Amino acid sequence: MMPNRSADVVVIGGGVVGTAIAYFLVRNNMDVILVEKGAITAGTSGRCEGDVLVCDKMPGFDSRLNKFSQDLFPEIANELDYDISWTRKGSLLAIENEEELEKAKKFCSQLNAEGLPVRILDKYEIHEDEPHLAPDIVGGMETDCDGSLNPMALAYGLVHGAKKLGAKVLTYRAVTDIRLDADGCIERVVTEKEEILSKRVVNAAGAWAPEIGKLVGLDIPIKPRQGQMLVAERTFPVARRKVMEFGYMMAKFESSDYTRDVTPEMEKYGIALVFEPTEATNFLIGSSRRFVGMDTSCHLDVLRAMAQRAIRFFPVIKDIKIIRSYAGLRPFTPDHLPIISETEVPGFYVAAGHEGDGIGLSLITGKLISQMICGEQPSITIEPLKLSRFKDGYRQ
Ligand SMILES: Cc1cc2nc3c(=O)[nH]c(=O)nc-3n(C[C@H](O)[C@H](O)[C@H](O)COP(=O)(O)OP(=O)(O)OC[C@H]3O[C@@H](n4cnc5c(N)ncnc54)[C@H](O)[C@@H]3O)c2cc1C
Repeated sequence: MMPNRSADVVVIGGGVVGTAIAYFLVRNNMDVILVEKGAITAGTSGRCEGDVLVCDKMPGFDSRLNKFSQDLFPEIANELDYDISWTRKGSLLAIENEEELEKAKKFCSQLNAEGLPVRILDKYEIHEDEPHLAPDIVGGMETDCDGSLNPMALAYGLVHGAKKLGAKVLTYRAVTDIRLDADGCIERVVTEKEEILSKRVVNAAGAWAPEIGKLVGLDIPIKPRQGQMLVAERTFPVARRKVMEFGYMMAKFESSDYTRDVTPEMEKYGIALVFEPTEATNFLIGSSRRFVGMDTSCHLDVLRAMAQRAIRFFPVIKDIKIIRSYAGLRPFTPDHLPIISETEVPGFYVAAGHEGDGIGLSLITGKLISQMICGEQPSITIEPLKLSRFKDGYRQ
């Protein structure tokens, strides 16, 4: 196949991460082609929730990176022609018992030390805040700065904005090969329909990033971590904002020094309450965390356990009907940080592995990759995000 296109940069993957990268690059006057094997948001960005959170992040670099990204959303939401439903209603972590409360206080003061506006609510305050929570919930941790948006509108808004500035977006064709020149530098990208001459490629293929890495001989340590979601019918306002259980962090980070009082199924399926009221007055219930390969099917036993967990926190929902369920693949890395990095293959960049934070981190990822490619000073240190951190045997 003869090369029939060329670009300064080819971005592989049309999720929130790839579309944000394309947008930031064209804003920086680069000539960009984005290639997606299905439709925009065909991957995990179309099978998730839309939270942009800092209160559930590890205090330190993780929380700082997420706050940095969060603060980019008001500007980009204004800039895009699409309504991405960006709101900042805050979020709440519900605490089940005194042991969790002590852990939450410590966690809260660590986040405060990072400058994050998080605070502990006592039993009286949390029930005044969310009257439908189970009466035995002993407290909460809340922040006003957390936000939410519609991830599909975000990706389509970014694509529309990038196209307006000159980007080309090629959907329904998979990248099948990436060729190097005699010096081992990126030379061209081969898709099912064309070849694209380009000296730079960004691998933003989420859970599929390892497959793209293999095309240039790179091992990218990302594993798909499945998450299932339930969608409930429209109903009265059960909660005024996003509510998670504090134990959510235990499921996410697999913390071993605390065991929640949950059923063996909930433990096995990595279930922790995520309760998300939507603009349409229904709500989402999540979620599970499992390593089951590339399986995106829902399983009744997992969904049932998720519903039981939600009823434990909000007994009032026990008779509300579920109308839909879906599952997506979080791109998991062993140290829970994404890979936003150049690599040992000149011209090949990786922007993947955002696990459960890809929506929130999309904009900072776009900005950092654009800064790297355009030779600008990065907005935040990129050392902890490098692919090379996994080189010396750091594997799970
Ligand atoms: C249940 C659930 C809830 C979540 N909730 C949140 C949340 O509230 N907040 C948050 O921040 N994050 C959340 N996440 C995580 C978030 O959804 C992901 O981190 C994010 O969507 C990853 O985006 P991405 O662009 O990297 O990957 P994807 O959206 O998966 O995009 C990668 C794209 O690459 C394409 N691709 C693959 N191979 C090829 C190829 N060979 N050629 C061309 N294209 C290819 C795929 O088709 C896909 O569209 C959640 C995830 C799940 C599963």
